[in-house]
Amino acid sequence: MKTDRIALIEAGGTKFIVGVTSGGRTIAARTRIPTTSSAETIGAAIDWLRAQGGDYAAVGIASFGPLDLDPASPCWGHITRTTKAGWSEAAMAAPFARALGCPVAIDTDVNGAALAEYRWGAGQRCRSALYLTVGTGIGGGAVVGGRLIHGASHPEMGHIAMSRHPDDRDFGGICPFHGDCLEGLASGPAIAARWEASLSDLPPGHEAHAIIAWYLARAIMSFQAILAPDRIILGGGVMETPGLLDRVRREVVTAAGGYFAGSPEEMIVAPALGGGAGLLGALALTEVEGNLHAADG
Ligand code: ZN
Repeated sequence: MKTDRIALIEAGGTKFIVGVTSGGRTIAARTRIPTTSSAETIGAAIDWLRAQGGDYAAVGIASFGPLDLDPASPCWGHITRTTKAGWSEAAMAAPFARALGCPVAIDTDVNGAALAEYRWGAGQRCRSALYLTVGTGIGGGAVVGGRLIHGASHPEMGHIAMSRHPDDRDFGGICPFHGDCLEGLASGPAIAARWEASLSDLPPGHEAHAIIAWYLARAIMSFQAILAPDRIILGGGVMETPGLLDRVRREVVTAAGGYFAGSPEEMIVAPALGGGAGLLGALALTEVEGNLHAADG
């Protein structure tokens, strides 16, 4: 009998979450594997998946990046250059496909989350949605008409150039590539580098709240100008700061100067899928036509 079980991997920089569906969107079992070397971590994930009975229809992988996602590239499904030791050029997709004997779909974790929110979460019934995660890093995924936007590779929305807040001109930013790009200014580590605390640990009257909302709003204005998404979903650890979502909405209205139509409360929202979004992202990736690649692909 043909199986409909899907193997799911949320590949993160500190841990892999590995799961199995029992058909549909139900995750029947899951485990957590610390991210060490690529051989050890992927080997442990494959061993666990085999121990769940094997026999999968497909594998979905939502991974940290950067990834080579060009189907014509010999390195499709590989991590490309990364500062993470032992992972540069590592094959992420092919080992699972070969070991489990089924096709694999892979994309970035943020693209997976964007697709899952679009299909089943805060982006439902929208023509287009942008998902931004603001946490240890900043990343974005855009879905238009049910498909993720890709160019030569996946977008890197966290690395857009920014104007500087007038009260934040002395900070150089923490991005190793660009200094004061969006991620360099507004990610969790950028907040800690300036104020030695997380945003949620700083009192509501602290200038950090206004400054971070100011940057996020200007980034959103750029994304609106380029993509005009129906909905912008803001996730990630920094966005869990009480009051930040509303500050960002208010700042978007101010920054845009009335140029963009729509209610900020309807357009800029929190994710709906919560902590399960990683594995659901991996699942969503397997459900898009053309996303699955054969074991030797
Ligand atoms: Zn950058």
